[in-house]
Amino acid sequence: MRVFISADIEGTAFTTVWPETGKGQEDYPAAARQMTLETKAACEGAIAAGADYILIKDAHGSGRNIDPNAIPACAEILRGWSGGPLAMVEGIDESFDAAVFIGYHSAAGKIGNPLSHTYSTATTQVRLNGEDCSEFKLYSLCAASFGVPTVFLSGDKMLTEDSKDLHPMLKTVWAKDGFGGYTRCRQPQLVCDLIRQGVEEALKQDLGRALCKIPEKFVLELSYKEHRDAVCNSNYPGFKLIDSHTIRMETEDLFDVLRCVPFIF
Ligand SMILES: [Zn+2]
Repeated sequence: MRVFISADIEGTAFTTVWPETGKGQEDYPAAARQMTLETKAACEGAIAAGADYILIKDAHGSGRNIDPNAIPACAEILRGWSGGPLAMVEGIDESFDAAVFIGYHSAAGKIGNPLSHTYSTATTQVRLNGEDCSEFKLYSLCAASFGVPTVFLSGDKMLTEDSKDLHPMLKTVWAKDGFGGYTRCRQPQLVCDLIRQGVEEALKQDLGRALCKIPEKFVLELSYKEHRDAVCNSNYPGFKLIDSHTIRMETEDLFDVLRCVPFIF
């Protein structure tokens, strides 16, 4: 079994403020270590379920957060960014049996994580087909477009609750619960144990029934903090300015949605 893992940091066990997520900052090493440990736990769960190849996308910031020495021998890690449309699931293709998302966070504007955002912090809200759009929604749909079902998600509690109906066999583990500027965090080792167990259970399901249905049409709307960003980005092909801070695109192709993310989010 071939398993794809995408890992972020803002939904791991205790990250609460931006300096914990930024390479080179004082609080960062502990958070990067926790991201490493949660990803390692996911690998162990996957191996227990029968995985013999794992590709990990280090999908936060520099793309160089996870300690490569911590990953098992049957895994490879994709570090850095090509700038291409697959972004947080770069490296995924039709050869994978399932996708797993670790350390993900609530969408832009959501109150359940002080670090909530969608891809960048330029927006106050991103909506896909009228609903809040998290990075998890974008990139698990991307995985589905390659025929790869998403079966496990860990992150903040609000994200896990918001995402539970996105995939038919999705199992979730929440690592912390936020409100405004605070987080109430589960014990980090417990989070790793729950991830290991959850990933194993998720991958032992009947994966043939785990693929979600991809919508036939997409309406993507971004509301920016700065009106100048809305005006500027409304020039990206397919978008229109719909009010002082908001742009909108309609398309039938998920690729159009994914392709614009590195440019205008
Ligand atoms: Zn991140």
